[in-house]
Amino acid sequence: MEKKIIDFVSNPLTEVYGRNLFSDAVMKEKLPKSIYKAIKKVQAGEGELNIEVAEVVATAMKDWAIDNGATHYTHWFQPLTGLTAEKHDSFISPTGDGKVILEFSGKELVKGEPDASSFPSGGIRNTFEARGYTAWDVTSPAFLKQDNSGVTLYIPTAFVSYTGEALDKKVPLLRSMDAVSAAAMRVLKSLGNTTSKRVISTVGPEQEYFLVEKELFAKRMDLQLCGRTLYGAMAPKGQELEDHYFGTIKERVADFMRELNYELWKLGISAKTQHNEVAPNQFELAPIYETSNIAADNNQLVMDTMRKVAARHDLVCLLHEKPFAGVNGSGKHNNWSISTDDGINLLEPGSNPQENAQFLLFLAAVIKAVDSYSPILRMSAANSGNDHRLGANEAPPAIISMFLGEQLSEILENLAAGKASSGSGNSFMEIGTSMLPKLPKDLTDRNRTSPFAFTGNKFEFRMVPSSESISGPNVVLNTIVAEVLNDFASILESASDKKTAIQKIVLDTYKTHKKIIFNGNNYSDDWVAEAEKRGLPNIKSTVAALKALVSDDVVKVFEKNKVLTKRELHSRYEIYLEKYAKQINIEAGCAIRMAKNEILPACTSFIKKLADTINSVKTAGINAVCAAEHDLASKVSALVDKLYTEVGKLEKVLATTQGISDIEKQAISFRDDVFAQMLAVRQIADSLELLVEKSYWPFPSYSELLFNL
Ligand code: ADP
Ligand code: MG
Repeated sequence: MEKKIIDFVSNPLTEVYGRNLFSDAVMKEKLPKSIYKAIKKVQAGEGELNIEVAEVVATAMKDWAIDNGATHYTHWFQPLTGLTAEKHDSFISPTGDGKVILEFSGKELVKGEPDASSFPSGGIRNTFEARGYTAWDVTSPAFLKQDNSGVTLYIPTAFVSYTGEALDKKVPLLRSMDAVSAAAMRVLKSLGNTTSKRVISTVGPEQEYFLVEKELFAKRMDLQLCGRTLYGAMAPKGQELEDHYFGTIKERVADFMRELNYELWKLGISAKTQHNEVAPNQFELAPIYETSNIAADNNQLVMDTMRKVAARHDLVCLLHEKPFAGVNGSGKHNNWSISTDDGINLLEPGSNPQENAQFLLFLAAVIKAVDSYSPILRMSAANSGNDHRLGANEAPPAIISMFLGEQLSEILENLAAGKASSGSGNSFMEIGTSMLPKLPKDLTDRNRTSPFAFTGNKFEFRMVPSSESISGPNVVLNTIVAEVLNDFASILESASDKKTAIQKIVLDTYKTHKKIIFNGNNYSDDWVAEAEKRGLPNIKSTVAALKALVSDDVVKVFEKNKVLTKRELHSRYEIYLEKYAKQINIEAGCAIRMAKNEILPACTSFIKKLADTINSVKTAGINAVCAAEHDLASKVSALVDKLYTEVGKLEKVLATTQGISDIEKQAISFRDDVFAQMLAVRQIADSLELLVEKSYWPFPSYSELLFNL
């Protein structure tokens, strides 16, 4: 392949950055002042979009896109498949004389009507009334996607049904951002804040991924169809030498990363940090945090771009949570915080006492939210891939707990024990001084094992699956924190003595919910036992976790905060169960094919070779016994018998499970019967791999897949 060198001398990064983004700067330049102002108002949630404004923006957007080579536009949306969807329309409009003009109206910008009958709706939309609408998300900028042959204008949109119900990942995210903003503003106002207008939830997702050689990938049906290996004996070397993590980035990978960054920067995505991860051939990319909505859109683009650029380098990017058994899997660290529109991070401890009071109040809200609603938070990280990580032999565990660090915990402990002086200040401004200690700046130590860790001025939710949209976890975080903040606000608003009220909220919350706080090693067995004693849920599988979507308290909180209705939640429950069932169904089908059409024939050929060898060696009088060949052949043959039997069982159990019509029962059967039997089959196949001559083995080994770059 021709090596593409990206030259940042003749293409200065500052000019490359955001080149393909219909950014604020572009809008400011291209739009009349009044229209620009109107759009800013809509973005800030202070005005409604009207068609006259949309008309002007559409024309400017089209001209900009066409100047940059675009021929098509698409409403880009995020159905519940977890992927993104797009349908392209060209700008052409025939003039009747064999010519065309290029057009794009405000109506086309604002609303689209894809034939959406094939997207999952969980019963919300019957296929005969397939109408689903896409609606322009004014808060996420349009962008140009460039491929080898052309340019398309992408317009981020929300996807809703005819009746206005959410059919996608964006709608609830936007609703949850409104919910947390409104609730946090109530609290801030009751604390005397008169300057902030909105509160914005922010996210910086760290994306982990694997790279494998395309040629090897093409030889493995499991990687191609399932994104993970269903077979594969562990290589003699794994990650035990810790020689990959933060190690020198090899040139081939560095080339990939450079082009990846280049593509992302053009889209205005702030790719910032990159490094080798723990497992061999595993890497990470982190952008700088953004508003949740934009961060979610950008993360989808990051995943897309990773796959696209990898292909250009004859590599395949694996985003699955567990592509390889025996080495670490991939996740996404979802760094989350909330800030005011005038720049106050509400989870920043700060150094002045008034801020401390505010900080401790918001901290208390997160503590209470995570403890009270941990099952739905756990749900938001559940998918079939993550079942190999959470609650399996790998970190983080399936138990949600929160890391605060020694110092912060001690501060809360002291407050609870009444060790801090209660003081005698009587004005609101003095609340902090009298009640709270000065917080040191960098007050958290590092803990890499906690699923939900305070990291200085944000929380890092580490359970998020690597392949999924980050919307789900952030919808949950925003919503449950909004719920608690509203409770706090109600208390504060009616309190005559705010000082006492704040103090009481922080202390009561800490006392009731401190069981969620754990600063030790979350990977240890002791913790599992201790968590059980504390009564913390340990929800080990996706099927079990999804149940939270339809539990009464979750429905109540989501309805109350206007994020998702009961019907929307139930539809999601069904869709995610179905998705789980379908994924395991594909995996099982693939495991059967590989065993029957690839592994078994390879093994029998090898046995035949050994048998032929034994015969020839004996006949030639070289060795009358051939003990080694005999032993090996019988071992392989015995395992082949076993494999054949177990694959037969897998086929049977799969057929039975496929026949279950109740989706809940079916998903459980996929987990308990099908998946369990797949493991039994795998175990035998992996033992065979260790015995059979390499040239006979039908697909590339772990050593080749993990150590060849
Ligand atoms: P780590 O040591 O875990 O890699 P970093 O400081 O590099 O931590 O940050 C990880 C991510 O957290 C980055 O994407 C960063 O932009 C993001 N981040 C920082 N501050 C915030 C914030 N206030 N809200 C959300 N994300 C944040
Ligand atoms: Mg991190």
